Amino acid sequence: MLTNKELDVLLEKCIEFHGHLCMGQILGVRIAVKGLELVKPESNKDLIVFVENDRCIADAIMTVSNTRLGRRSLKFRDYGKMAGTFINTKTNCAYRVFVKMKQEEKAEGDEIKKYLYVNDEESVNWYPVTVSLHENDLPGKPKRVIECVNCGEKIFDGKDILVNGESVCIPCNSGAYFVKVNN
Ligand SMILES: [Zn+2]
Ligand SMILES: [Zn+2]
Repeated sequence: MLTNKELDVLLEKCIEFHGHLCMGQILGVRIAVKGLELVKPESNKDLIVFVENDRCIADAIMTVSNTRLGRRSLKFRDYGKMAGTFINTKTNCAYRVFVKMKQEEKAEGDEIKKYLYVNDEESVNWYPVTVSLHENDLPGKPKRVIECVNCGEKIFDGKDILVNGESVCIPCNSGAYFVKVNN
């Protein structure tokens, strides 16, 4: 259990990165502190964290757990939920931690800071989980890099789709979030 002073230091780090104090930073600190306490990674190299939304709490969970999308230690699953899963890849211990607080407990302004110090039981809940991580999703050198036969761009980490035995990228195979404008 961290002291209030230690929680303050973590919250300050989060505010600095995120840009403002908000309930998301406070809940994100609580989620990440609990997750780390549960899975006890000896080193940051043994930790993979999943976040389940891309709102305020994602920044706090990332900051406190010191995981990064670009290091493959942070994974994003867009469930629109205030939750994170913490995996110790050395011991395979994994827990999903989620917000328990009710909507009516929402507070405004500096008043929200009190939620940083409440008992775990009042702010978050958790349960053990198993997460199957594919080798192509782990940190480290890419296991597979191949060119798309259609657009010629490189595809990393086995994200290519085999069509008649040839590798095609996801946008070429099934459409993308963008539409190319021809001018
Ligand atoms: Zn925010
Ligand atoms: Zn392609």
